[in-house]
Amino acid sequence: MTPTEAGAGREYGEHTRAVHTPHPPTPEQTPLGLPVYRTAAFAFSTTQEYAEVLSGRQPGYAYSREGNPTSDAFAAAVAALEAYGVDGPVAGEPFASGMAATTSVLMALCRAGSHVIAPREVYGGTYSALKTLLGRFGVVAEFVDMRDVSAVRAALRPETMVVWAETLANPTMSVTDIAALAALTHEAGAALVVDSTFATPVVYRPLAHGADLVVHSATKYIGGHSDVMGGVVVGRPELVRQVHEVRAELGGSLSPDDAFLLHRGIATLPLRMARHCESALVVAGALSNHPLVETVRYPGLPAHPDHMLAATMFDPGRYGGVVTIVVGGGRDGAAAVCDAARLAAVASSLGGTHSKLSPVAVTTHRQLDDKALALAGIDPGTIRISVGLEDPPDLLADLDQALARG
Ligand code: PLP
Repeated sequence: MTPTEAGAGREYGEHTRAVHTPHPPTPEQTPLGLPVYRTAAFAFSTTQEYAEVLSGRQPGYAYSREGNPTSDAFAAAVAALEAYGVDGPVAGEPFASGMAATTSVLMALCRAGSHVIAPREVYGGTYSALKTLLGRFGVVAEFVDMRDVSAVRAALRPETMVVWAETLANPTMSVTDIAALAALTHEAGAALVVDSTFATPVVYRPLAHGADLVVHSATKYIGGHSDVMGGVVVGRPELVRQVHEVRAELGGSLSPDDAFLLHRGIATLPLRMARHCESALVVAGALSNHPLVETVRYPGLPAHPDHMLAATMFDPGRYGGVVTIVVGGGRDGAAAVCDAARLAAVASSLGGTHSKLSPVAVTTHRQLDDKALALAGIDPGTIRISVGLEDPPDLLADLDQALARG
């Protein structure tokens, strides 16, 4: 209980009583739902304790930009999933978005003059963060074909600090051989960072295969319902600590309310992801026989150039929930098909309950000009289909009519 007297027998006034309400009880029992610590600041018994916590000499929380128990619980949950098969401890760091996670990792690992190797078809936000934002601070980015290990080897320099990879590349659904890349990267003294947003720990766990850090846009499959933004970084505690320091300074911290939603998503992530993968395989198989579809890119199909690699790397039958198709007519053709869809939404993002279509050349990869698109192997008529949780025959019927009308 909060004291009711100000001292000397005098009662507190009504405003003071309204502000200083009784503290909530700390239950003995473990709550099954994650408690939301919706607070910016934490109070201390003494200034000594305050100083000790702030300086990191004593564990605890002081200010939610630096740390919040709900947000940390979310990151720890992702770390626990990514840690499967890893020797040694794995820590997690929560972020307000995938891009907050990406930029914080890059700023933690790079200095002016650092060199970063990234995939040619890397997510557009990562591409511009590397090229434009970090470029202004003297970081040099080089975009290579990550499927070609010798091209990565040739690009490595003494100043290479980071090799950035995507487990499943967006939108080509190319598969990256993380173990091969890890060996190469470590020989050169650099860190391998893997954006595993498309795979999630349900499909593949890069840390167990030598990656130093894993980054997720939790906005996608981890949240899973298209109603929350978030990001997370996992890896060895000492490396994650460096990323934490940058996050605390840049301020891309995850709100406790959003952390609650993301944490709740984790309980059903394996169920949802298995369903996304199963449905994507059905959709990819059907579309590969469609006369109006020029190309289907899905690593679960034997015709995909990385199918064998995917089959050895990924958990059985799991190849992700995104199917990429190419239709005729370039940017206009892709837009017309997307606009004709009735069930699948023309929408940004991916990984949610609802199927989504994205004509990538004018949306997610708009930062890439025609030359960069061609180099990345992305046809302007590419449509990314994020296969949702609907019944596959319904989605296929919708795509069929959209292709016919588009
Ligand atoms: N990484 C990948 C592969 C993405 O697709 C995205 C967003 O689409 C991001 C990172 C960035 O995540 P966010 O939008 O949560 O900042």
